[in-house]
Amino acid sequence: MAKIIRDIFIGDFGISQHFGRNSKDYAKFGMKGHNGVDFKCPRDTILIAGTQGLIKKVGYDANGYGLFVQIWDNYQYLITIYAHLLKVDVSEGQWILAGHKIGTSNNTGNSTGAHLHFGAGDTNDKGERLNKNNGYHGWFDPLNKSRLKWLVGAPSTVEQAVRKANPGEVTQTVDVEIKTATIEPPKVVNEEATITVAPEPAAIVNEMRPAPPTPPIEGPFTIKDIMREQTHSYNFAAIYEILKKLLKKIFPKLSQ
Ligand SMILES: [Zn+2]
Repeated sequence: MAKIIRDIFIGDFGISQHFGRNSKDYAKFGMKGHNGVDFKCPRDTILIAGTQGLIKKVGYDANGYGLFVQIWDNYQYLITIYAHLLKVDVSEGQWILAGHKIGTSNNTGNSTGAHLHFGAGDTNDKGERLNKNNGYHGWFDPLNKSRLKWLVGAPSTVEQAVRKANPGEVTQTVDVEIKTATIEPPKVVNEEATITVAPEPAAIVNEMRPAPPTPPIEGPFTIKDIMREQTHSYNFAAIYEILKKLLKKIFPKLSQ
């Protein structure tokens, strides 16, 4: 089943190099061809996370990716890479949501002009890329619809929404605060198997037993109210109320 990917940058830019092309240029990297897809993002285009997940790596490879970010989607076991960046706004080990700004584009590393190199690969449950002998070091064609389903065009951030509402205009008059959220890391991503300790049987019984009914604070006073079993003390207010009612019944005229 195809994995889901959302917007990866703000704007609408075409493709300058498809997956698998220019085999001669990529032979030196031990690959059959281009291991991702290049988008014609101009310098300083805002890049956003296409999936939620962990910032698996922020690195710099002068002969290849230049400044790059890898995001691991721990739900879909999908790793994505954004390369040749100008700057990075996230750090390794950070957990982010889709739509989180990760940096801006440029042409750092092995690149002849500003663009975004985007790659995608399947991983195991630890975020390690699979199929590394597929001729592309485990990367697959991000535009192969059977591998990735792109949900794009839906505004992922407030800024994107504002820009779409004001095409061709940078948000000068509208002061927008982009709120980003971080998520908690999942608890069960670990090298060792986690052992969950079952609660004591007594604890379960206590949990399942309904709470004892709480006595009403106010209401019709009864003998039960007077003789409180728990404290064995008398409720004098209740006794007074009952005696008053009794006296009214016996001596209706007197009480008036
Ligand atoms: Zn590329």
